[in-house]
Amino acid sequence: MSSSTLGDGEDSSRIRVAVRCRPLFATEKNSDVVDICRILDEHLVILLDPGAASNDYLRQEKSKEKRFAFDQAFDAQTDSQRVFEATAQPLIGSVLQGFNCSVFAYGSTGAGKTFTMIGTDTEPGIMSRTVDGIFQHAASDGSLSVTCCFVEVYNEVLRDLGSRDGREGMLDLREDPVTGPSLTGVTEIQAKSVEQVMELLQEGNKRRTTEPTAMNVTSSRSHAVFQVRLERRDPRSEGVMIGKLSMIDLAGSERASQTNNSGLRFLEGANINRSLLALGNCINALASGSSFVPFRDSKLTRLLKDSLGGSCRTVMIANISPNHLSYEDTLNTLKYANRAKNIRVSALQQLVQPDDHVRQYEHAISDLRQEAALL
Ligand code: ADP
Ligand code: MG
Repeated sequence: MSSSTLGDGEDSSRIRVAVRCRPLFATEKNSDVVDICRILDEHLVILLDPGAASNDYLRQEKSKEKRFAFDQAFDAQTDSQRVFEATAQPLIGSVLQGFNCSVFAYGSTGAGKTFTMIGTDTEPGIMSRTVDGIFQHAASDGSLSVTCCFVEVYNEVLRDLGSRDGREGMLDLREDPVTGPSLTGVTEIQAKSVEQVMELLQEGNKRRTTEPTAMNVTSSRSHAVFQVRLERRDPRSEGVMIGKLSMIDLAGSERASQTNNSGLRFLEGANINRSLLALGNCINALASGSSFVPFRDSKLTRLLKDSLGGSCRTVMIANISPNHLSYEDTLNTLKYANRAKNIRVSALQQLVQPDDHVRQYEHAISDLRQEAALL
């Protein structure tokens, strides 16, 4: 197995993109669901045409598979320890040195974002593994303080997920020009053990705003943000180094129209897309070196203002389902992730960027035309 990791190396200030494909569920295996995702090596993802994958000979002849390359590609057998080692773990040293970093899980509902970020008792996700890694990394450093908070952005409102007393938990976001964004009154935990953090995450996750949609009864319509602030004495300067690591379980990226939403649900969808769009726009602006970054366009990007760009290191994990019925969502996720990846590359060659995008869309349009002609 290769030892390559995300976020390492000389290009560490740029956004790194990984894709993780979840396994098919037993119920999916027992029905007519076909696995249309192939992870060829540590980088290459192939999405098969759902018609071809279902062994429909006529469609197979005309099939067109989609290929994408990423910094890392994790197949359904890859465990969360490996995903952690290749994505968040390389960021820990930077946070301990006083830098801000962030890790995002992007993808449609049911693709494995919460499994990747929060996980289960038996398979903890990136959030608690990272805190564990921080403790291990600095076991000998008595000056280290680890402070955690867990919040959600739901309908452009910030809520405290760590509040136990049943208060509504709405939070005010203040922006200090020196210390950055801060959440007034948020529940902060001085973490002493991984178990304590896992409890905060699992209890907080239950408090997340989840409402039934036609697509998935436990569909999460909120963005969950887990922030860990590390403070330690700098042995050389006697000053205090403060670094912040933000780990974000984004809301489902599926389009509102696909979930038969209307009314309030549709409004949520619009807000979720607004935050995701704002996030994409900020990443785009940061990567292209633009002097204006539209952080103010959403609550999520306002909250993460000091955790994106500048000296921050960012990792995006795009979660996908191999289910052929999720083809459109999976393709959209791969395109979004591919865009983030291209932006990173374009940051080095800024003049190429607009053409890159135009070419990408031209290819997509020509693919669609060909597919339409074959139907
Ligand atoms: P999301 O948060 O993207 O809506 P979840 O993380 O809740 O999706 O995943 C949906 C279901 O799939 C959950 O039951 C979860 O435990 C399971 N799952 C997701 N990814 C994996 C994986 N890599 N291995 C095993 N089970 C997974
Ligand atoms: Mg989820």
